[in-house]
Amino acid sequence: MSSPAPTAPARPRVVIIGSGFGGLFAAQRLGKADVDVTLIAKTTHHLFQPMLYQVATGIVAEGEIAPATRVVLRKQNNTAVLMGDVFEIDLKNGVVKSRLLERVTETPFDKLIIAAGADQSYFGNDQFAEYAPGMKTIDDALELRGRILGAFEQAELSDDPAERDKLLTFVVVGAGPTGVELAGQIAEMSDKTLKGTFRNIDPTQARVILLDAAPAVLPPMGPKLGKKAAQRLEKLGVEIQLNAMVVDVDYDGLVVKEKDGTTRRIESQCKVWSAGVQASPLGKQLAEQSGVELDRAGRVKVLADLSIPGYPDVFVVGDMMSVEGVPGMAQGAIQGGRYAADCIKNELKGQTPDQRKPFHYHDKGSMATVSRFSAVMSVPIPGTKKRFETEGYFAWVGWLALHLVYLVGFRNRLNTLINWFFAFSTRGRTQLAVTEQQVYARTAIGHLSELENKPVYEVEGESAGENDPQDTETPSKTDTKAS
Ligand SMILES: Cc1cc2nc3c(=O)[nH]c(=O)nc-3n(C[C@H](O)[C@H](O)[C@H](O)COP(=O)(O)OP(=O)(O)OC[C@H]3O[C@@H](n4cnc5c(N)ncnc54)[C@H](O)[C@@H]3O)c2cc1C
Repeated sequence: MSSPAPTAPARPRVVIIGSGFGGLFAAQRLGKADVDVTLIAKTTHHLFQPMLYQVATGIVAEGEIAPATRVVLRKQNNTAVLMGDVFEIDLKNGVVKSRLLERVTETPFDKLIIAAGADQSYFGNDQFAEYAPGMKTIDDALELRGRILGAFEQAELSDDPAERDKLLTFVVVGAGPTGVELAGQIAEMSDKTLKGTFRNIDPTQARVILLDAAPAVLPPMGPKLGKKAAQRLEKLGVEIQLNAMVVDVDYDGLVVKEKDGTTRRIESQCKVWSAGVQASPLGKQLAEQSGVELDRAGRVKVLADLSIPGYPDVFVVGDMMSVEGVPGMAQGAIQGGRYAADCIKNELKGQTPDQRKPFHYHDKGSMATVSRFSAVMSVPIPGTKKRFETEGYFAWVGWLALHLVYLVGFRNRLNTLINWFFAFSTRGRTQLAVTEQQVYARTAIGHLSELENKPVYEVEGESAGENDPQDTETPSKTDTKAS
């Protein structure tokens, strides 16, 4: 009697959600491990968010900061990349469900690393998003570029001084690093790049306002650097308005409430929101299933090993995790992703979850650019509780160097370097193209989904009985990825 040939034990199936800093760096760390990795993300690219503002203001092209994830991971034979929006995590059965158009894919896992990041928070006023979009994705940055340049184009055509003023007033809400960088670049673009390019308007007269409900610019970087950044911005002509809380936003402007309770209106067509973050809603699912707590921004209060209670094989990293002392920055996500991957690798060598060393965040400092040749930088001094703080040219060169190091791909680094050289030495920008679809896509998609959600008779003018919306639904396909 012959016995069946022995089969090799199945390798652990590791599923990673997200291709941002947390997800990509975790996947790369597992490159040579004896596991099968499936990375699922909503986008086909890894996005280098810290340089989004340079896409929005025409300095670099979107491809330079967003390489295709499957190309980056091409040489990792143990890794598959799937495009899909994860809508369900079933912890008990170890399955992740994702959707691409109408197709639903089920991916089973033994280990799960969740790195789905965070979105913009409007603090309960989501209706502001239509008129003051945030800047989290390539779509956002391209739309913003279109809105900024479109405002100049409309102003050129207007003979009405009040309308021109409204079109040439740009408001950035939120004086954190993104708001500071964006306000500085809009000011430089109007002052330098667009100078002399219009015939009826003077782009150098554009008003750039940086608003914040807090009393300081760049609060996480401390009062000294915040003050320096504010002074530099003011030198560029940016108006800084602090203690100013936005209470309403519409197509033509916004309403601001002062500290004393009075309100005032700013007429502005182009508004950008860079205040506050809200973690991925996937955190809520984890809370419902495992009882893990969420913080006010929806971040998951993970255990010391970044796992969640009762599920030692489920890790939450990056902007989705809440760990004291770890900021929502690229380094927090990179280190968290690598740590989770290392835990998985150690278990292949026989370590058990209770033997894991707690996650330790290594603070490498923080920085923000203010304008050409000017940045602020705060780095911890090893062995002390003090920090080395500096600003100006030295910090700016440091910012450029560090961001080049973390950009993925040699060609992207080279192209970016060339674009930087061009933009900072000549003040010219190569990426000022805007398409109509970039500017109007969000509104058009919004209208389409409104139509989709309406009963068919309202759309077609027919009665509900004759045309039941249920009948028009296409059944979704379901795939099961067995790895
Ligand atoms: C404009 C801007 C500027 C910044 N500047 C700096 C800076 O200068 N320095 C710094 O250190 N940090 C900066 N940050 C913060 C830094 O980018 C984030 O902390 C970091 O990207 C977090 O990494 P992450 O992997 O947690 O999330 P992300 O990088 O946001 O990645 C999330 C991933 O999850 C995917 N995803 C989300 N939901 C789903 C879903 N349901 N299904 C499938 N996939 C999903 C997304 O497509 C994406 O691939 C900046 C952020 C922004 C927005």
